[in-house]
Amino acid sequence: MFHHPDFDDHEQVVFARDVTSGLRAIVAVHSTLCGPAFGGCRIWPYRSDDEALTDALRLSRGMTYKATICALPYGGGKSVILGDPKTIKTPALLRAMGGVVERLGGRYVIADDIGTTLDDLRLMRETTEHTAAATSAAGQPLPVTAYGVFQALRAAVEHALGRQDLEGLRVAVQGLGNVGLPLCRHLHEAGAALVVTDLSGGRVAEAERAFGALSVDPDAIYEQPVDVFAPCALGAILNDRTIPRLRAKIVCGGANNQLAEARHDAALAARGILFVPDYLANAGGVIDFHQERTGDDAPDAVLAAVARLYEITGDVLARAARAGETPLQVADRIVLDRLADAHRAKAGDGAVP
Ligand code: NAD
Repeated sequence: MFHHPDFDDHEQVVFARDVTSGLRAIVAVHSTLCGPAFGGCRIWPYRSDDEALTDALRLSRGMTYKATICALPYGGGKSVILGDPKTIKTPALLRAMGGVVERLGGRYVIADDIGTTLDDLRLMRETTEHTAAATSAAGQPLPVTAYGVFQALRAAVEHALGRQDLEGLRVAVQGLGNVGLPLCRHLHEAGAALVVTDLSGGRVAEAERAFGALSVDPDAIYEQPVDVFAPCALGAILNDRTIPRLRAKIVCGGANNQLAEARHDAALAARGILFVPDYLANAGGVIDFHQERTGDDAPDAVLAAVARLYEITGDVLARAARAGETPLQVADRIVLDRLADAHRAKAGDGAVP
């Protein structure tokens, strides 16, 4: 465990088993320095235990970075349940998962993610109080992540292209799911021209019909003559094979862990491409959680809070330009400095996080 390539001094990793319900789960608590670790519960048919552990370790670290770059009082956590949600998900399994969370005593607050729904959270609530709200003020989940990506993208366009409106801006969107499709709607409403791709023909057809998008094959998305490339499907899509093909000036999207390796940040910069750190662009969910915790979760208030990602991104981009560094280098340093401050404050030497 301690030599795992994705182990990043995580505070706690729990392997949980409940024979009766069939639950096999991993909860990774990356950090609680700034507050309780918040993060979703993913149910996925991982090919191996190690693949599940890797996901939990990487995603929980990402949650710490999302909360901390937004200066919110939370840490990062993530849970994964091994199995196909279509076959393993039962009320007993979800209640058992709630029990696992309860035994962590509030150090981890569980939310929905791929494979879990708000209804599932309601079942977990029967065995733990440490869940994100199982209902939203809007009655259904607001597309907060997409709205946050849209705000980060606006800031990047203003910074790199010197323009405040998106009229006629060309954007390539990879993946038309919960994040990609509502992002397309925001971009379309702002006057951008869209090129899209997805493995699902139905989603592509919807984007063509609703937003006048041009569609291309999945592998052709990288070399589109666009201003912005918005990855909203998979991780690791910025790599040795794809970066040389990009024609966009900006990469800003919702997918987690877009860089295949850390060195690909420099590879993008060397090509003059501005990369907005994914954990910054897609931090809308944790801002939404904060609104919910503070009771200010009317849809307008949530969206206004998520819109802060425009200012936060603009600030990171400006600092990076001044320092001659990449936005990721600057954002990482802001996060690590804040965590170090929180650590000092906890250690009682008077520093304030
Ligand atoms: P989703 O499953 O709803 O949508 C993903 C879409 O990508 C699907 O339509 C799928 O067909 C498509 N896709 C998969 N492989 C593809 C490929 N090779 N080329 C083109 N399209 C492909 O997922 P989502 O919730 O929209 O999340 C998308 C990404 O954003 C993920 O990386 C996720 O971790 C990240 N993210 C999501 C949220 C959220 O609130 N949903 C929050 C933060 C980060």
